[in-house]
Amino acid sequence: MELLAERRLHQLPAEEVAALLDTNLEKGLDLFAIQARQQSFGPNAIEVKGGHGALFTFLVQFHQPLIYILLVAAGITAALHEWVDSGVILSVVLVNATIGFLQESRAAKALEALARMTVTETRVLRSGEMSRIPSVELVPGDVVVLQSGDKVPADIRLFRSRDLQIDESTLTGESVPVNKAPEPMPAEAPLAELRNLAFSSTLVTYGQGRGVVYATGGKTEVGRISEMVSTADSIETPLTRKMTRFSRVLLIVILGLAAITFSVGVLRGESAFDMFMAAVALAVGAIPEGLPAAVTITLAIGVNRMARRRAIVRKLPAVETLGGTTTICSDKTGTLTVNQMTVREIEAGGQRFQVTGSGYSPEGAIGSVGEGRSVIKNTAASDCLRAGLLCNDSTLVRDGGRWDVVGDPTEGALLASASKAGMDAKQTHEQHPVLDMIPFESQHQYMATLHGGRDHLPRLLCLKGAAEVVLSRCSSALGADGKTVPLEPAAVLRQLESMASQGQRVLAFARCEKPPTTHVITDADVANLTFLGLQGMIDPPREEAVRAVRACQDAGIHVKMITGDHPATALAIAKMLGLDRAASAGGREPLVVTSRDLEAIDDHALIGIADRVAVFARATPEQKLRLVRALQANGRVVAMTGDGVNDAPALKQADIGIAMGNGGTEVAKESADMILTDDNFATIEAAVEEGRGVFDNLSKFIVWTLPTNMGEGLVILAAVLAGVTLPLLPVQILWINMTTAVLLGLMLAFEPKEPGLMLRPPRNPRAPLLDAPLVLRTCIVGLILLAGAFGSFRWALGQGLGDAAARTVAVNVFVTVELFYLFNCRSLTQSMFALGVFSNRWILIGVGGMVAFQLAFTYSPLMNHMLHSAPIGWDAWWRILLTGAAAYAIVGAEKWLRRLWTTRRTQGPLLPRHGTDHGAARGAG
Ligand code: ADP
Ligand code: MG
Repeated sequence: MELLAERRLHQLPAEEVAALLDTNLEKGLDLFAIQARQQSFGPNAIEVKGGHGALFTFLVQFHQPLIYILLVAAGITAALHEWVDSGVILSVVLVNATIGFLQESRAAKALEALARMTVTETRVLRSGEMSRIPSVELVPGDVVVLQSGDKVPADIRLFRSRDLQIDESTLTGESVPVNKAPEPMPAEAPLAELRNLAFSSTLVTYGQGRGVVYATGGKTEVGRISEMVSTADSIETPLTRKMTRFSRVLLIVILGLAAITFSVGVLRGESAFDMFMAAVALAVGAIPEGLPAAVTITLAIGVNRMARRRAIVRKLPAVETLGGTTTICSDKTGTLTVNQMTVREIEAGGQRFQVTGSGYSPEGAIGSVGEGRSVIKNTAASDCLRAGLLCNDSTLVRDGGRWDVVGDPTEGALLASASKAGMDAKQTHEQHPVLDMIPFESQHQYMATLHGGRDHLPRLLCLKGAAEVVLSRCSSALGADGKTVPLEPAAVLRQLESMASQGQRVLAFARCEKPPTTHVITDADVANLTFLGLQGMIDPPREEAVRAVRACQDAGIHVKMITGDHPATALAIAKMLGLDRAASAGGREPLVVTSRDLEAIDDHALIGIADRVAVFARATPEQKLRLVRALQANGRVVAMTGDGVNDAPALKQADIGIAMGNGGTEVAKESADMILTDDNFATIEAAVEEGRGVFDNLSKFIVWTLPTNMGEGLVILAAVLAGVTLPLLPVQILWINMTTAVLLGLMLAFEPKEPGLMLRPPRNPRAPLLDAPLVLRTCIVGLILLAGAFGSFRWALGQGLGDAAARTVAVNVFVTVELFYLFNCRSLTQSMFALGVFSNRWILIGVGGMVAFQLAFTYSPLMNHMLHSAPIGWDAWWRILLTGAAAYAIVGAEKWLRRLWTTRRTQGPLLPRHGTDHGAARGAG
């Protein structure tokens, strides 16, 4: 197979390529060949190269202002032969870098694992049978089928195509899709012009094609691009960026304060070294260095929690955005409904039939309503059923006792209804083999097939699709006796309406004859048909979707249904889901808007309408994009689902693009921020809930950590300005920050979701990180720390304790207040007794660890030596504990007062009213 490497395949006719690859274009490879080739070629996967090495990641950890300050401090202390201090500072730097490094690699691994969870599948022809296999199992010689929406799984020489267009931007950077065709090409064509080759990882945007795999894995064009970067996304989010900006400003302020501290002290005649150490202490204390790590970890925990609930987040920022979602636009079929279609009614030849049975099983009967012929005797009805069977790309399989559909559930239902009338799918297809097909696309809403018959007999064209579309292509109808009758579109539409208003998805059928010379059909050939009839199928709403819609409404989130289905069908299903509730409060607005209505509305008017209308029917993918834009123009945070190629722009535009894991195309998945492995609406609701929980926990961490920094900064500042001994040394501040951040603060990331999380209105996307009440709380605790630590330090000195013991008291005050305050921070609004004291066991473990650490700090001689601490007695301890308890009580009282106040203000429990404008709702607080 040396020829392959030389890339000459494009010059040869397809048959020669097949011969070279030792494969059969009509049957594909057989099992033996596949096994042998899997052995010699290995899996079809590209090893991810690039990214940054471990050493680089480790070194980056030192690139922080705080570390630079510490390194300078270590250098100066070493120069002054303060070996112990220098050593402690250096080891803190190392420990800090190691923790940062471990966290970052863990987060990266988690993201990689998520990337692996989404398996790409390919349709291949093997041993004459079509099947879907994971793309990694492909081998050279495999015959694969490409369809719009697919990701090309390997490098492929095409031998058949129909309007095939491929987006090769991943490879060439060219964003306009390339037309592909199987004809051989001249020898000297550049990569971008090799029209008969399809390359791995590019995306099929239109049409269909068939080809034979000639290179897999690392041998493909993308596999050969050496700097192919890792798929794991960067772990920066809007929140981390906001925080980086915040820290940068803070840093400048702190460095300014440190400089002032230093100069004031030196001017007053203190030793330059002491003042330098005071400045370092101030900087170390006041910089919230644990913040970025906490954000990453909390988000990563959120990603895991979501994955467990079947929502795979592809981009870390999505975790955060999800929590702020205000509007969810969902597909109907398969997401809000079970996607289990069963034909219930048939309307043909002036007669209505009821169909019994359930699922895709052929058991069931077709009985006429009132007097009339049986379905077999009614030619229109039986032709309608036959058209449904012929114009069909799916099959039914029996899996144990259960019948299941391979392909489109809508088509599966048609196969089942035909078999209830005694038609045999295989036999019918053998009598009328398919010659050509225009596949179903949601834009044109129909599917047509061309069938051959015995020689010289006319070809048969079958059409099925949305009734409006099919009717527009028909010029006559078929009567029950098989005679052509005039078409009465108004009557058909009335019948359609009566079926659709019961929630049935209605398809119309038609057919016509074509001359025996016809081999291919195009859109223009689908005209002048004979209308056959309608089939209406039910697809009940998912039970869990009904509950999830309710939960979203309680959470102040608007749910909208966007569907290609008929407005009456959409409305009936929307009512079953309770989707009409939110809109009905709004008043006069119609509940359903159709594609036709939307076209007549200009962008400006759409902004209001998009917000108030709950159901969009017969909508096209382009209109999804318009809707997202209109909602966003109104300040909404929009989550939008999609599965087709044409949904990609809307998915990208939405704040949260959601793709279907089972039913979705690869193109949709590539554009999405999140993938639902079960295609279920309830999973979106679960993810939003998790997202809210994550954001909550982040706010808790921030509110917990900032007062410490403030308190430490203030203590140093106050001591220097007052010209008294420093109550805390730099190494002690390092000790406090490192131990409490890991043992106490991080445990907040494990805080379970609060009760009532989904009863609050969504957070306002424009609200600041901390609102006024939280800023106030931060200040209160910061001042408690200042007063507590400074006061007890002075008290200890007054008791005759030495500097070391007095500082030990101050350090213990800090840690103890933080420890008590941690319990306040378990919820921003509720008391920990409302949450359950033991509901987060991580907190208890952390607190236990912290107590042990502090005892060691206070009593172990080694620690005493390194951290300049000294043992203290009971009289000190009870003061320390009292300060902590006082802090808990003060913050508890503040929270209680605020609860009282908000309840009074909203007059009742904090329940949002449905349909109210929550864009201006307050953030968590
Ligand atoms: P949704 O996914 O929102 O339910 P679709 O775009 O799948 O909407 O379907 C819209 C309409 O297109 C359906 O009401 C039906 O009339 C028609 N339709 C759906 N699937 C097929 C198909 N496989 N072949 C022909 N027509 C179809
Ligand atoms: Mg669909």
